[in-house]
Amino acid sequence: MAARGRSRHRERSPAERRRRCTGGRDPRQRRLGDARLRAAASDRRGNRRAGDRLHRARRRPQPSRRQGRAGPVPRARRRPEPRWKPRWRLTAIVPRGLAALGNAAVAAERELPDHRREVQFAEIAALPSYLFAVAVGPFELVDAGRLGDGHIPARLAVAAGDGKRAALALRELPRIVDALERYIAAPLPLAKLDLVAVPEFFGAMENPGLITFQTGVLVGGRDFTRIAAHELAHQWFGNAVTPAWWDALWLSEAFASWLGDRVTGSLTTRIPALAHRGRLAALEADDRIDAEALIHPVATSGEVEPAFDAILYDKGAAVLAMFERFVGRDTFQAAVRSYLATYTGRSVTTRQFLDALGAAARPAVAEALASNLRYAGTPAVELSLRCGAAPALVASARDRVAVPVCVRFPAASGGAATQCVLAGSATVHPLPAATGCPAWLIGNDGGLGYYRTVWRGPVRLAPLALLSPDEQLARADDVAFAVRRGELAAAEALTELAAFAALREPHATLAALEIAGAIDAMVGDPVRPAWTSWLAGQLGHRMTRDALLAPPRSVAEYIARAQIVELVRGEIDPDVVAEARARIDRLGDVAGDPARLRIAAARDAGALFERLVRAAATVRTGQARDQALEALGDFPAPLAPRVVDVLLDARFPTDRVWPAVATMLARGETRSAAWRALHARFARVLAALPPARARDALEALAGLCDPGARAELAADAAPVVPAAGDARRTLDRTLAVIDRCVARRAMVGDIAAALAAVPRASGL
Ligand SMILES: [Zn+2]
Repeated sequence: MAARGRSRHRERSPAERRRRCTGGRDPRQRRLGDARLRAAASDRRGNRRAGDRLHRARRRPQPSRRQGRAGPVPRARRRPEPRWKPRWRLTAIVPRGLAALGNAAVAAERELPDHRREVQFAEIAALPSYLFAVAVGPFELVDAGRLGDGHIPARLAVAAGDGKRAALALRELPRIVDALERYIAAPLPLAKLDLVAVPEFFGAMENPGLITFQTGVLVGGRDFTRIAAHELAHQWFGNAVTPAWWDALWLSEAFASWLGDRVTGSLTTRIPALAHRGRLAALEADDRIDAEALIHPVATSGEVEPAFDAILYDKGAAVLAMFERFVGRDTFQAAVRSYLATYTGRSVTTRQFLDALGAAARPAVAEALASNLRYAGTPAVELSLRCGAAPALVASARDRVAVPVCVRFPAASGGAATQCVLAGSATVHPLPAATGCPAWLIGNDGGLGYYRTVWRGPVRLAPLALLSPDEQLARADDVAFAVRRGELAAAEALTELAAFAALREPHATLAALEIAGAIDAMVGDPVRPAWTSWLAGQLGHRMTRDALLAPPRSVAEYIARAQIVELVRGEIDPDVVAEARARIDRLGDVAGDPARLRIAAARDAGALFERLVRAAATVRTGQARDQALEALGDFPAPLAPRVVDVLLDARFPTDRVWPAVATMLARGETRSAAWRALHARFARVLAALPPARARDALEALAGLCDPGARAELAADAAPVVPAAGDARRTLDRTLAVIDRCVARRAMVGDIAAALAAVPRASGL
């Protein structure tokens, strides 16, 4: 499945997936009649499970997945067990004019006396039921030529008229398949391939022979290369070689993410700011109070769905990339090829890949990977230099994890030398390429290591100008997460932030903003005015009219602008705010451009806010209404009580207004005001929200980081949250996160004093 990164077709929870799936109905949809499916699965001894089921055929294709099973009763009931790969036969009876697509090619078809068509698919020899798929609809079938060494026939199945908008997919598909086949040295293990556009869908699904995509990915091409590379990599990882049980999902999702990203990087221009998002998502997930390791026990069906998270995708890919770099591309490729060649068509456990890696590299490397797979959290590696006659690196990985560490330092021969070591507990590694004590050291060469660097002893950090964009961002990760964990004093973090901001390069600005985001979460209300003023001073060159209102020149600038508007909206020059407001007035489109609206809203006293509320009450489509309601969260703190008014306003569905409150709770400038507004009507708000949204609300309060607010929340929730159940568990977790944040904030020290001590930038 493709589910990676915020705003990248990710499903964060089953509840969110349901919400997403009800939001985007295509107006062209209508009911076309019934199609009948007859599917039979049997195990190798011929024991059969068969069944008919009605499948509503809408105007647009709907995927149907039949979750049958054969063999012994699975450990998690209602979930198919991936290691069982039964034989399948499928027949579909469909209304005239509709196409029926399955995992296999059509073997025979005929017209029935009532003019419906009976479509019989070729038998599938072995397929786990979670990968069984059927699509029925009035598709436009677009020939996509023949793919790869096997010359397998490929088509796109899209809604009528959409074929001409799928040019990017048609162009990229053969390139992706060629790149994957070159890496794996084996042809795509399929007899045919259909890529199907599905309107109400969470992203993409790798069903062999019938890969389904959210329509916008396949038609219009948003992010097609990356998502398709992931799904096509699954044809080997997961489909041909299948994890025996859900606790080894990393063997399919982490590998599909790592190889998909690798192939995407070779076919497109790599943008460090985008590549870094995966690392950041993994670090954030690893810092969750209930973070799980990549391999963790899955005992019940309820534990399968939550396992599809940033740990599985982003951390999994980052850990694999780290080991690939450590053993070398050729050695890692040999391990991957041998693993796939040995186990194609079979079910595997983690041990099988570890053995392949151990044989290609050495057993200690495989055991090091195993220690990372079992470790919950981001490994921390303490580095120091031992300088004497022969300089040496002392590397110590905490918590008995063995971490591949690559460092860079000035070489005796001139230029820089890179050295990779396997860091266990306090290992000493001579640096033969160094002359004397290195003048500086980069602790995560290329930013490719998935670990946090913690410096011990006299620090010889490299000048920021020597760091590549990836290394700048990795160093910012180290600083930001040290702040979040209360391990770095405020003054040191501010100094580092100021140094990055002074470079005035797009990726250095992003690095500064990442540190700023971590500090912002630690800033209490009394210090906030001094903090935002100081930060705006550091970022002055990014807060000009052009920087905020003209089209950004790069992805890094685009992301930086969005983050600046989040962090220091109240500090934006009044003339820039007025101009954004004038543009909205001129265009008459209040919620059309979210970035411009956020700037225009920065100093609004209520006039623009009320215009949005009126627009939400009168617009014709649900999507436009939801957009207007969501934008209410972008206004200044004094309007927080009005957002809660709107939430309780009977004209609007409460669950569509909640995102505005969540936005206010997420931003430092509005968090306290949003809490005070909620606190005043807590029981009413919680009762008004649907249960899933009420749990979201309890979760969103985890950012409060204030002992007073924590006590109020505990008292407010006591009478309205049941003593047991999902809501109580969410509340308990939220209170624990607040406690942790309060403790960490105390360790960061006096931010006000640090702000006074660290000089402001000299301005523009
Ligand atoms: Zn996947």
